[in-house]
Amino acid sequence: MTKNRVGLIGFPVEHSLSPVMHNAAFAALGMSDWLYDAMSIPPDILRYGLQEPRNHGYIGLNVTVPHKEAVMELVRPDAIARAIGAVNTVDFRNNSGANTDADGIVEDLRANGVPIADQQVLILGAGGAARAVVYGLARAGANLAIVNRTKSRAERLVSELRSAAGIDGIALMTLEEAADWGMSLIINCTSVGLHPHVNQSPWTHGLPFPQGVTVYDTVYRPANTALMRQCVARGGRAIGGLGMLARQGALSFKIWTGVAPPVDVMLRAAQAALENTARSRDENQIEVKD
Ligand code: NAP
Repeated sequence: MTKNRVGLIGFPVEHSLSPVMHNAAFAALGMSDWLYDAMSIPPDILRYGLQEPRNHGYIGLNVTVPHKEAVMELVRPDAIARAIGAVNTVDFRNNSGANTDADGIVEDLRANGVPIADQQVLILGAGGAARAVVYGLARAGANLAIVNRTKSRAERLVSELRSAAGIDGIALMTLEEAADWGMSLIINCTSVGLHPHVNQSPWTHGLPFPQGVTVYDTVYRPANTALMRQCVARGGRAIGGLGMLARQGALSFKIWTGVAPPVDVMLRAAQAALENTARSRDENQIEVKD
């Protein structure tokens, strides 16, 4: 008998890896009275989409695209969520909202042995994922620069993080300027390269890719993106975003249950589910056409 329910709201959520990841952790810990499910909630019924699970005794929810910002109005966001401007974890017991993406990426970079403090780190993108990544990396002591297609959005990100969290010194660059900046790490926070556009890269074709840098691609579908292949072809190290997904999920799990879950179990479950869908789509077989 399931007593403790948690889940995910987003639109759409059909391909989410979160249910498989969380339910694998419940199984590994013998928490058979817990269940995680996913609910597809269109934006116009977000209030209802939050209220109904609460009425039915859900303990909390993960929140994903496109609701992460809008849900801020419906819960009490903590200081980190307020600074980032987005909530990805709701706890109905105190109506609080947290954002675990920032700690998720920092923990995954550390788990992969990637240095952060005092490093020059280039962020590609200025959307929701970028806001969390910039917050997390700035707090961890990185020197940051941002490249985004729409400059005004990057300017807004920098100014809001300055006023909300006192984060200063983030440079805005063009990709051409960034190519000569001398970063040790590039983090892709754009949606470029996401399935089905698996041959697209945010590092524009024709611009030489820097040699020997590490790329962390927050995109994890496909597992090996065009940007990651460009990086490896120039002697660099490439890491996909599945670890960030598993670690932000593990931090949400801890908020709801009070238990730190086995991240390796969550990661393996997500990996297996991703490989299953990738096999059927054959999405990882496509080469970069430079
Ligand atoms: P978002 O708010 O919609 O932002 C999208 C970003 O991608 C913007 O910076 C946008 O630039 C840029 N972009 C989109 N199409 C582009 C194009 N054709 N050329 C250049 N730039 C383009 O989305 P988000 O929530 O930040 O998510 C971004 C990605 O992060 C997602 O696709 C997802 O894979 C990944 N993500 C991963 C995790 C994880 O746990 N691994 C967590 C969250 C997100 P403009 O401002 O110019 O539109």
